[in-house]
Amino acid sequence: MKYDPVLGKTDLTGSATWSTSDASVVVVSPAGLAIGVAAGKADVLAAVEGLTAAIGVRVLSSPVLAAGQIETEAAADIIAYNQEAAGLGNFHKGTITRFDLPVRVYVDPSFAPFADCPQRAVKWWQSATGLPIVFIDSNIEPRFQMLVRPMADDRGVTSIDSVNLDNSFRTVTFRMPTSWGSGCPPPYEDSVTHEVGHALGILGHPDWGGVMAYLAPGAWTGVRPPSAREARFVVELYKLPLGAHVEPDGTWLVR
Ligand SMILES: [Zn+2]
Repeated sequence: MKYDPVLGKTDLTGSATWSTSDASVVVVSPAGLAIGVAAGKADVLAAVEGLTAAIGVRVLSSPVLAAGQIETEAAADIIAYNQEAAGLGNFHKGTITRFDLPVRVYVDPSFAPFADCPQRAVKWWQSATGLPIVFIDSNIEPRFQMLVRPMADDRGVTSIDSVNLDNSFRTVTFRMPTSWGSGCPPPYEDSVTHEVGHALGILGHPDWGGVMAYLAPGAWTGVRPPSAREARFVVELYKLPLGAHVEPDGTWLVR
């Protein structure tokens, strides 16, 4: 609140720059909404016109914001290959990691030698899962995107670069070997389809048959759609709210 002898009081909430002293306890939106993350103490800071004010916040507990139930088999898969997955994309161990919808895919022009591989790969997953996935024309806003770039190496790679606490911000980079040449023959289409599976949230190589297990040695025999189990994994994962924690009995919670 600003006081001016002539204008009186002015609400500065919208013009302040908000921050937190400890994002593991409390986070603040750009509009100034503080959200408790975990029990503890932290300061919420507001900076405006060169002045900064701090207010202490104490978060007492983590109330359950939403809850639900999924099948135990799907829950076990999601826990093993997303929530508790080792390695790839393991930023928020304990909560599920997925894109906000629709999943927005940006294909870097440098990927052009591989023709329509990204479009074909996305189509496999779309037809198997019904998930809304859209291609966007420009890379102006780095949210929910997959970048596809060539690389000088011997295989395709997916790396998940960043993710916020609420999973709202995530960049996945696909790289394809420049040594592979051009076009989209079956091995390339398989490789990109495989990497799209990782990007969508299958953070590992479960031996379920179909695309994700497809990179087994000597398995380059043709393009296959995602297996039923993989498709169900993605369908169930994207029914869960961002930041959900799944229990082995199929219960999920957002705290
Ligand atoms: Zn892989």
